[in-house]
Amino acid sequence: MEPIEDLLKKLLLSLEASQKQKESVEKAFRFAQNAHQGQKRLTGEDYFYHCINTAFILAGWKMDTDSVIAGLLHDTIEDAGVTPETLSKEFGTRVSRIVQGVSKVSHIRLRGSEDETFVENLRKMFLAMAKDLRVVLVKLADRLHNMRTLEGLPEVKQKRIARETLEVYAPLAERLGIGSVKAELEDLGFKYAYPQEYNKLVSESKVYYLKTEDVIQKMRRKLLTKLDIEGIEPIIETRKKHYYSLWKKIQREDIEGDLSKIHDIVAMRVIVDEVKECYVALGVIHSQYTPVPYLGVSDFIAQPKPNGYKSIHTKVFGPNGKIVEVQIRTHQMHEEAERGVAAHWAYSEAKSKGISSTILETMGIVSPGNKMKWVNQLVSWQNEIKDSKEYLSAVKFDALSERIYVFSPKSDVYDLPKGATPVDFAYAVHTKLGNFIKGAKVNGKMVPLNYQLKSGEIVEIVKSKNPINPPYKWMEFVKTTAAKREIKKIH
Ligand code: MN
Repeated sequence: MEPIEDLLKKLLLSLEASQKQKESVEKAFRFAQNAHQGQKRLTGEDYFYHCINTAFILAGWKMDTDSVIAGLLHDTIEDAGVTPETLSKEFGTRVSRIVQGVSKVSHIRLRGSEDETFVENLRKMFLAMAKDLRVVLVKLADRLHNMRTLEGLPEVKQKRIARETLEVYAPLAERLGIGSVKAELEDLGFKYAYPQEYNKLVSESKVYYLKTEDVIQKMRRKLLTKLDIEGIEPIIETRKKHYYSLWKKIQREDIEGDLSKIHDIVAMRVIVDEVKECYVALGVIHSQYTPVPYLGVSDFIAQPKPNGYKSIHTKVFGPNGKIVEVQIRTHQMHEEAERGVAAHWAYSEAKSKGISSTILETMGIVSPGNKMKWVNQLVSWQNEIKDSKEYLSAVKFDALSERIYVFSPKSDVYDLPKGATPVDFAYAVHTKLGNFIKGAKVNGKMVPLNYQLKSGEIVEIVKSKNPINPPYKWMEFVKTTAAKREIKKIH
């Protein structure tokens, strides 16, 4: 363990902050050190190391000084008996509010899914999020460090915390667009929640990772030469699909547990300077390697995913006929994909210097009050939905579930929970559209209304002349809370 004083120096050096801000960080550091004096974690180390590490994670995400300070202080209310008033007095109301928010959400526990306390705490978390997203980022940093140090806990505890991480925190990181955190939380959660499955997959996948990596290295050398002719000097790296998402994928029906059927176990990432170079690179890649028919190109630059994700994805036949996924993006898109909403605070300073903030617009966090649309939705439901079971299912299906991305005929992107149907789509577009459904087309062809939509599909609702009464049997297949609530209203 590094000496505390060295860690303080390192932390201060890692911050891009004014002298005055650094003094505040130092003050918070001493304050937390003092508050947690003598406390130990179950791992045996001084408690304060956990606070320092949480602050380091936040500094690594380039969060503002208030967040780093809140990271240092995040357990002082709960574990050291410090009052919110003291924090306000010493560090200002903003810091105090973040720490209070983090303390409130720290009791989220997954026991039975109908557990009232769990639901109550989820409500609190979304409320806190709606007020200040930094609460959730500090909470995620806290959880990430806890997961990294889970080794020292008893097995029962490890399992509970790991499951909670997989069910609540990783999906949250995903919805906030923080890809790197989502992946790390998922792999750590996977390892502790399903140790046997994890170990089996790690050993079985090794040879597939190596094989694909080999193919990609061959392609890499060729593409570097060809792109150089076009005046493009990209960084080409390989992206290993992380274990948890690999595990989920091999369970799909069409994969049948066969790792050789997974084309993106290792993907190639081409990172360039400018957007137009992405398209030039795409052309160069397709001229060297034939694109795989039907699997096709996804242009998430022209149409970003609702969580802000941008890149072009294509699948091509690489050397030896091996199918390889290639992802093309700019450096800025790469940064945003890794850091998501955490990039916001860096940008709010950069904005005055004219740096684009489209990710913020895409995510709906430049709307007044910096709130995200889906957070607002949950907050408004929490006032309307009194039944905690119903609220829990709203949260689980709408906020934390896996998402698919579909398009309207006008190319607007909608994100819906996995398994959503054209009826869910209609109600997501507008309540009124849902009440005029006569039929639905997907990619131009008529489909039944209980059809399960897939990412990338274009959905069109065939409208009736007059409003209809949505039949109650639609309840059997709709997935979103919005659709369920509208259908129930009529019956
Ligand atoms: Mn903590």
